[in-house]
Amino acid sequence: MLDFLEPLSAECVLESMIMGRFRGKIALVSSFGTESAILLHMVSQIDRATPVVFLETGKLFAETLEYRDELVALLGLTNMRSIRPSGQQLAAYDPAGTLWQKDPDLCCAIRKTNPLDAALEGFSAWITGRKRSQNAKRAKLELVETGPDGRTTVNPLAFWDEARIEAYFARHHLPRHPLQAQGYTSIGCATCTARPIDGADKRSGRWAGLDKTECGIHLPRQFAA
Ligand code: SF4
Repeated sequence: MLDFLEPLSAECVLESMIMGRFRGKIALVSSFGTESAILLHMVSQIDRATPVVFLETGKLFAETLEYRDELVALLGLTNMRSIRPSGQQLAAYDPAGTLWQKDPDLCCAIRKTNPLDAALEGFSAWITGRKRSQNAKRAKLELVETGPDGRTTVNPLAFWDEARIEAYFARHHLPRHPLQAQGYTSIGCATCTARPIDGADKRSGRWAGLDKTECGIHLPRQFAA
């Protein structure tokens, strides 16, 4: 519906949202995954004090935490918010830390969705790194959408393909996620991330073998405590 916005550059969209329409009311939500450095770099060029929300689930790769620290220092980001799950919810639903094996949707709710909802309270909009090229379910992604919670979702890279991603990393000499060299193309929790098999889409290593392709932060809420 909003494809007419495609000619706008990602930087142009971001600047208009951060400095204009949603000034002081917008946050970048970043997984510090394989392509996250692009938006983090763009945001740092516009306003280094833009809030950056990172969901520290307690199940991430150590390499992701190291990459987060590297990028924050390199880009001079000054409003980094590493969000952890509620201790009460962990004690009630995942005391052994193995819920991901039995009920990954509930685990994602406790470790990702609920903490994100709390972190975004007071914000009217958030920025994501989703792209149409990631998988078939994202093929109709728009630059600007209204999320299930009524909040505006800005997807500046919605129309980006592999060539543009690679060109941006090269042009700005951005460091890569350490696990990319080992074949990981989409990186979430260590417990639920595998390398994709050859030829499969980039996100196919997430919850591999399960009928689950999203953690739920972009879907209507199923569980809220
Ligand atoms: S990705 Fe896995 S470990 Fe991480 S929150 Fe979801 S189910 Fe839990």
